[in-house]
Amino acid sequence: MKVVIVGSGIGGLACAVACAQESLEVTILERAPQLVPVGAGIQVPPNAARVARYLGILPKLLEKGVALDGIHYRRYANGKMLFDRPNVKTDEQYGAPWLVIHRADYIDALYQAAIAAGVELQFGAEVDHVDFERTEVRLKTGETMSADVIVGADGLWSTSRDRLLGFPSPPVETGDLAYRGTFTKAQLEALNDLEVNKLCSKKVVTAWLGPSKHAVFYPLKGGQQFNLVLLRPDNLPIGARQEQGEVDEMQATFEEWDERLRRIISCLSAASKWKLCHHEELRTWTRGSVALLGDACHPTLPYQAQGAAMAVEDGAVLGKLLGLFKKSIHLRSEVKHPVAEILRLYESLRKARTTLNVKGAIASQYWYHLPDGPEQEARDAELETAKWCNDTKWNLTSVDYQNDLLGFDVIKDCEGAFETWRQKRDNSDGRQFTAET
Ligand SMILES: Cc1cc2nc3c(=O)[nH]c(=O)nc-3n(C[C@H](O)[C@H](O)[C@H](O)COP(=O)(O)OP(=O)(O)OC[C@H]3O[C@@H](n4cnc5c(N)ncnc54)[C@H](O)[C@@H]3O)c2cc1C
Repeated sequence: MKVVIVGSGIGGLACAVACAQESLEVTILERAPQLVPVGAGIQVPPNAARVARYLGILPKLLEKGVALDGIHYRRYANGKMLFDRPNVKTDEQYGAPWLVIHRADYIDALYQAAIAAGVELQFGAEVDHVDFERTEVRLKTGETMSADVIVGADGLWSTSRDRLLGFPSPPVETGDLAYRGTFTKAQLEALNDLEVNKLCSKKVVTAWLGPSKHAVFYPLKGGQQFNLVLLRPDNLPIGARQEQGEVDEMQATFEEWDERLRRIISCLSAASKWKLCHHEELRTWTRGSVALLGDACHPTLPYQAQGAAMAVEDGAVLGKLLGLFKKSIHLRSEVKHPVAEILRLYESLRKARTTLNVKGAIASQYWYHLPDGPEQEARDAELETAKWCNDTKWNLTSVDYQNDLLGFDVIKDCEGAFETWRQKRDNSDGRQFTAET
């Protein structure tokens, strides 16, 4: 079985490794001339770390990343701690750590695993058309490539998505944008600020919450680098995707905020400015033997640190389902489009979970950005006394929500679903599907 994956982002690479682990033949077509991680840092929450273990790259991520001791939510104006998230040392609770890592290291770990597993990666290969009848992609150069399965892992501005739906389907603007910047430890130390140094000495993510904005800061590369993301109302022109960020604007935007954050921002010489877009729920992710994954089908606000986590889950589930299909099913009867059925099964497993995540991130946008007033005071009071119990309306402190988000075993889930599908096919055909020996 041959799988062609369009895009070598985190989702495409994870899918490639998962497929290759199942002895499928995999080619990735990537339009960039080389691997290009966008942005610097990324959080790898426990559900993504569990997938990393499944793909065999968790030791590498642990070696290159920083396993967190905590996530600290702070008030914007004075930096007062609102909530020290208690379940971050998650090995015991969720069977996997919560990491932060440089994207280049994450991508490299996936890339090395893909190459070691025999994946072919073609750079400078931009796909501009998908033929659903022939299960074939066409490159900008005019070259075509056919496969048994095509996976559109081509991100937020996906061409595969437009082709699959049959009309342009740009993601929807969320009203927010993100500045992304990094610092070296030396840059921050040069501030000579005890409070900033204290912040930098911890293996924590610090998130400041304020009216219509928030900021996120964490270490990378064993604490030798730091990552800052500033989120604020979007003032980019409609349709613009990215611009060079203006440091003056960043400073002015966070003028009233915690002194430490302002000092950190003062070290920035440059930062990129990104429009944040999403799709709340795409009508369909599959057509024939073509399926979408990751940001191509469920782009989200990054307010639960789950976009790439959901993309690697997609990739792992798709690889596993295709592997189960190839390995354990010997199709004796005449099943029309069996791969299309497997892809629909994939969509049915993944859509509810990823849609919940997109909606969860929208809820966080509201909740993180509350203006000062009674509702914000109620939120802060709840955070300060949060005992990690069920009776809360906020996703962040809802144990059920968090257990499901971080603890759900997607591989076990898809194995069970596959078995149910197999039995249903047996019954509906009145014939046997037997395991290959
Ligand atoms: C500010 C910010 C912070 C974030 N923080 C986190 C976080 O902490 N944790 C987390 O899990 N997620 C986070 N995310 C989300 C995460 O970055 C994305 O969800 C994730 O990178 C999506 O991966 P992907 O592989 O689906 O798409 P992409 O990474 O966009 O990869 C798509 C690939 O396809 C290629 N491509 C596109 N079109 C074509 C074509 N026509 N032909 C061939 N190749 C093509 C592109 O060059 C690219 O390499 C954050 C996002 C933002 C904006």
